Amino acid sequence: MLSKEIQDALNDQIKNEYFASYTYLSMAAHCESLNLTGFAKWLRKQSQEELQHAMKLFDYIVDRDGQVVLQGIEKPQSKFKSLVDIFQQALDHEREVTGMINKLYEKALSENDHATVVALQWFIHEQVEEEKSATEILDKLKLAGDNSSAILLLDSQLGQRN
Ligand code: MG
Repeated sequence: MLSKEIQDALNDQIKNEYFASYTYLSMAAHCESLNLTGFAKWLRKQSQEELQHAMKLFDYIVDRDGQVVLQGIEKPQSKFKSLVDIFQQALDHEREVTGMINKLYEKALSENDHATVVALQWFIHEQVEEEKSATEILDKLKLAGDNSSAILLLDSQLGQRN
């Protein structure tokens, strides 16, 4: 049985994952408007991944005989200054999510809720990957600067994400 505190925190995290998904989708829309279809495809995939994270938490609450209580999702930002701005924000946001997962993990540890501790370990590993890929793309964008050939090459590489 989940404690009320852990259940509330997991429900909050479902909302946070949905917000992350919504944010990536908004970033994808911006890239679509610039015809940067590779960036857009990568961001759409990322948006879908975040939904999977939310559903993993949803299923976990159900498996523990808890109650899923969905919350309102904030409106994401819709205007972005540049690709660097987008991926800097993506990285900052992933770092925030990492902090949220860590707090959840600490809460589960303090309550000796071992099942939740184990379930959250998957998310901790996943955040390492998320931060890594956002950092890689951001660093490449910074290197590319205003060089449109480099941006188009990156666009085509990101478009190959499956
Ligand atoms: Mg996530």
